Amino acid sequence: MPLEVRSTPTLAEAASLLQAERAARFLAGGTLVVRAVNEGDVSFSTIVRTSDPAFTRLRTAGGRIELGAGVTMAQILASRELAFLHPAARSVGGPAVRTMATVGGNLFAPHPYGDFATALLALDARIRLASGFGAREVSLEELLRGRERTPRPLVASLSFERPADPAAFRFRKMTRTRPKGPAVLTIAAWLPLSGGRVSGARVAFGAMAATPIRARAVERALEGRPLSAEGVAVAVAAAAGEGDPPTDPIASAWYRQRVVGVILRRLLLGEP
Ligand SMILES: Cc1cc2nc3c(=O)[nH]c(=O)nc-3n(C[C@H](O)[C@H](O)[C@H](O)COP(=O)(O)OP(=O)(O)OC[C@H]3O[C@@H](n4cnc5c(N)ncnc54)[C@H](O)[C@@H]3O)c2cc1C
Repeated sequence: MPLEVRSTPTLAEAASLLQAERAARFLAGGTLVVRAVNEGDVSFSTIVRTSDPAFTRLRTAGGRIELGAGVTMAQILASRELAFLHPAARSVGGPAVRTMATVGGNLFAPHPYGDFATALLALDARIRLASGFGAREVSLEELLRGRERTPRPLVASLSFERPADPAAFRFRKMTRTRPKGPAVLTIAAWLPLSGGRVSGARVAFGAMAATPIRARAVERALEGRPLSAEGVAVAVAAAAGEGDPPTDPIASAWYRQRVVGVILRRLLLGEP
C-alpha cells in the first residue's frame, strides 16, 4: 500500500492534518512508527511530521523545565541541567534508539515501554496539546488515560517544576537483560522530605498496567514517614495491589506483582 508523507512547518498544521485524517499517524523519532511500516502495518496510510522549531526546543532556565515533544533521549543526556533525568533517559533502548527516540513518542509507546513517561509521571508533568484551534494543557495522567482515542492528540511539549532538590527524584528499571531491555517494571519517585519525613510523595509505576500509572496507595502510605526500613514497610506492602500488570514475554503478571515491592523497597531505602 502506498504511504504518503506530509511535512508541515507548524505543530498546529500537523494537528489539523491528524484531526482530519483518521488513517494518519504522527512521526516523531520513528523508532516505533518506522518499525511498524517495515513490518507491513497497513493501519495507517499517511505519515505526518513537522519541522516546527518549537517541537525540538529544550528550555531549562527558570522555575519550570520545558521539553518540546520532539526532544530526544540523547538531548536529555547531553544536558547537565537535566542530570537527575539521565538514568531515565539512559534506560530507553540502546544508543542508536536513544538518538532518535523522543520524549513525546515515549508517552505513546505501548507496554512494556514508556520508561521516560514513568519518570515524567512522578514529576507531575503537564502536557501541551497542539490543535488547529490553539493549544491546551492536560495532566500527563489524563493524557495517558485517553491516549488510544482517535483522532489521537498531538503533544507539542511538556513541562514540570524544576526539582528544588534533584536528589529527591529516584528512578529504577528492572530488566531481564543488562544493560538494556524492555522493562519487567519501572519505578520513579519524587520523595521530598520535611523534618526527615516524606511530605508530598509522588510514585509512578511503569509496565504494571497498560500505561504508566501513579501508585496512589504507596504515596499515601509514605506520607509523614521516614525513609527507614520500618517507615517504608506499609508502602512496600501496598505496592503489589497497584495496577493490573499484563503478562507478556518479559514477565508474568504474577511475577511483576511479586517483585514490585522488592524493587520499591530498594529504591526507597537507596539500596543497590
Ligand atoms: C530496539 C528498541 C528498543 C526500545 N527500548 C525501549 C525502552 O527500553 N524503553 C522504552 O520506553 N521504549 C523503548 N523503545 C520504544 C521507543 O523507542 C521509545 O518509547 C521512544 O521514546 C518512542 O519515541 P519515537 O519518537 O521514536 O516515537 P515514534 O516511533 O515516532 O512514535 C511512536 C508512537 O507515538 C506517536 N507519537 C510520537 N510523538 C507524538 C507526539 N508528539 N504526539 C502524539 N503522538 C506522538 C506516534 O504517532 C506513534 O504512534 C524501544 C524501541 C526499539 C525499536
